[in-house]
Amino acid sequence: MKKSVFIASFFAAAVVFGAFAFAEDSEMKSENNYATIQLGNGLKIPQFGIGTYGSSEQQAHDAVLEALKDGYRHIDTAHAYRNERGIAKAIKESGISRSEIWITSKLWPTDYSNGNGAQSIDKMLERLGTDYVDLVYLHQPVGDYMAGYRALEEAVRQGKVRAIGLSNFDLNEKVFEDVYAKAEIKPVIVQIELNPYAQRVEFRKKCAEKNLAVEGWFPLGGSGKGNETLFADSTIKSLAEKYGKSPAQIILRWHVQEGFSTIPGARNPAHIAENIAVYGFSLSDADMEKIRSLNREQRFYTGTWESAQHFKDVEINY
Ligand code: NAD
Repeated sequence: MKKSVFIASFFAAAVVFGAFAFAEDSEMKSENNYATIQLGNGLKIPQFGIGTYGSSEQQAHDAVLEALKDGYRHIDTAHAYRNERGIAKAIKESGISRSEIWITSKLWPTDYSNGNGAQSIDKMLERLGTDYVDLVYLHQPVGDYMAGYRALEEAVRQGKVRAIGLSNFDLNEKVFEDVYAKAEIKPVIVQIELNPYAQRVEFRKKCAEKNLAVEGWFPLGGSGKGNETLFADSTIKSLAEKYGKSPAQIILRWHVQEGFSTIPGARNPAHIAENIAVYGFSLSDADMEKIRSLNREQRFYTGTWESAQHFKDVEINY
């Protein structure tokens, strides 16, 4: 049964960033003066990236080219977003060497089983115009996720993938524990929905115990209602006024200061520049506490593990 990826990505769930153990590393500066986070396998991921969910090839190309000019060195995409070729083109045009850029992509459930994994990773490398991807997530915790995981492990052994992550495995903690226990090459990061209204405190504790870094999707609440809700929050608004920053910058500074990796999605050049300009100021301890107190563990994405099951039948024709 085939459905469009657009619909699939609409329902895609995600993961947040496990942070406690990484707060200190997040203060380390990379060459371009932005922070990196030390992962459990020794690699350093640039803390701040650009998200490309919902962007066409052309839109992702334009946004990524702009972001690279602004100093971003971390790009988040997925097979399911169907824009990897546009990103490859932007990286090439930027003239920045491949080794300075961190590329994350995600393997979709239909790529997990029937021996599809190895071939799917080779196709991903081709689409991205590179001979290695820095980080590949299993996108969803459904289908034959263990076969997908084994394919990623093999790709790490072959030098095609540098780090493995789990995306949306917070949807089912039994599955999360299962894949973690069976992994021969341990995952080093999770990607989950994470923002001031859904701080994922309990799940992040489990990640910290496993030395998993935490990367947040929907850091600004996603597009639409979540976004509007967070920007209209009176605490966020008053902090924006106090620091002379935008609500987006207050929220993103909170992510950065908590030690999360964050990948806000933006296509507007002004937003792309504004978002990463959060390393020049800091929120006081009391103001960090104010934002922490906004937590209501209210996710904006309302899908469940059960509703995610259909992803294993959604083919990505890209
Ligand atoms: P987001 O929380 O980053 O919000 C994006 C929205 O905020 C867009 O509408 C954008 O126009 C707006 N925005 C961005 N900067 C702004 C600014 N400075 N001022 C005003 N508005 C601004 O939501 P997202 O893009 O869906 O999530 C971030 C990234 O996470 C995605 O792009 C994608 O790469 C990843 N993601 C992963 C999963 C998963 O299943 N693993 C799911 C969703 C998203």
